[in-house]
Amino acid sequence: MAPGKSRLLDGSGQGASLRGRPFPQSAYAGLQKSLQQEWQFVQRVVGGIGGEFADVQKAISELFLPALCRDTLTEKDDVRLLLHGLPVKHAGMAIPDPTKSAKTNYEASSLVTSHLFAALTGSKAFRSQEYVAVMTDVKSEAKSRKQTTDDRTLKSILSKLPCDVSRAIARGKKTGQWLSVMPSTINGTDLAAQEFRDALLLRFARTPGDLQSHCDGCGQKNSVQHAHECKNGGNVIMRHNEVAYTVGDLFSMALQPSAVRNEPLINSGCPAVTVKDVNPSNPALTHNLHKNQGGDLRGDLCIRGAWGKSIDLIADISICDTDAKSNISRDPAKVLEAREKEKKRKYLALCLQNRRHFTPFVVSTDGLIGKEAKALLQRLSSLLAEKWEKPYSVVCGYVNARVSIAIVRATHLCLRGSRVPFSHFSSRRPQWEDKAGLSLFRHSS
Ligand SMILES: [Zn+2]
Repeated sequence: MAPGKSRLLDGSGQGASLRGRPFPQSAYAGLQKSLQQEWQFVQRVVGGIGGEFADVQKAISELFLPALCRDTLTEKDDVRLLLHGLPVKHAGMAIPDPTKSAKTNYEASSLVTSHLFAALTGSKAFRSQEYVAVMTDVKSEAKSRKQTTDDRTLKSILSKLPCDVSRAIARGKKTGQWLSVMPSTINGTDLAAQEFRDALLLRFARTPGDLQSHCDGCGQKNSVQHAHECKNGGNVIMRHNEVAYTVGDLFSMALQPSAVRNEPLINSGCPAVTVKDVNPSNPALTHNLHKNQGGDLRGDLCIRGAWGKSIDLIADISICDTDAKSNISRDPAKVLEAREKEKKRKYLALCLQNRRHFTPFVVSTDGLIGKEAKALLQRLSSLLAEKWEKPYSVVCGYVNARVSIAIVRATHLCLRGSRVPFSHFSSRRPQWEDKAGLSLFRHSS
């Protein structure tokens, strides 16, 4: 018996050619959230059938995962093969090996239903209170044991990897929300095939094999790290905007669209630099005077009522690469913390002077969220939960997923987006640029 086999393999028995299919995110969600649940149900009710799932596991490791990553997974120690069985919160993909999970599933199910079984076979009277108590205790114990086992497995896998790879994969414990959501254009949680595959490869510290050899913005040799930091072509700015717009959009739903403003001046009441302030012999001095008053400083978002009624919050978005050369020797969480402090030094005092709150919204290119940003997202979730009258945990999941998906899209833009400006290849422009020139145009009729 091989439940699920027929759907993983195609009619010809040669294996579904998922390799060429353009919807890896949907394929993953379908297997992880639906198909897998079906065979786990069978495992819960029939004992001793682990061995029967050998073909399913073979299909997962030899067909499904290579097709999902569009890569060959021939090495036995490929981290993707070692980690796919662990939960997303343990840097895995939540597709456990069914040959191994069968025993645990059957044992847990037998224990959970032990009181019900005893009552049905007549050895005990049924008491709903006792049934619920047994069920709760067993579930809690099973969860705690699984946590311990998963911790141990992840630690053992990471200990055998090079330091930099282990460091990147360990971050996957906190950056996998995008993997846990159902793709949906309505909810804004869908990812293109390449976005999904690149994010999956980066999650396992792999470089996408088909990355351009040279950067089309500056001509330098391309790499993931270069793509994250090359400022040519404005992709770094667009990456920043992608996250800013998502946060702004969520706050406009939680409050109202007019409560969210883009690029606010930090000190909107800053007096203009007067003639007597201008020092012609030292223009830098004049500039600094204006700057110290916060004259030319802007945040990314101004949100009225985020932390309290009638108070503005200035949020400044920052995305950093925790694997950049300058950060590689530091703990990724400390890198985000340092960026938060730097932003606060620059903006906080000026914001407070203007009776405004300030939050540095710092995230990493792979989706780690800084402490301050996390607090802001919690506040956002609680505002939305209150407005929509939905459970906080559900809304929180939605908010985190939206932000996580935005970061995946933003990172992909830097990795794959063109850096060639339009003006470089537009050679047939007319010799006028605004509407006045249109009067030179005449129809032949
Ligand atoms: Zn470049």
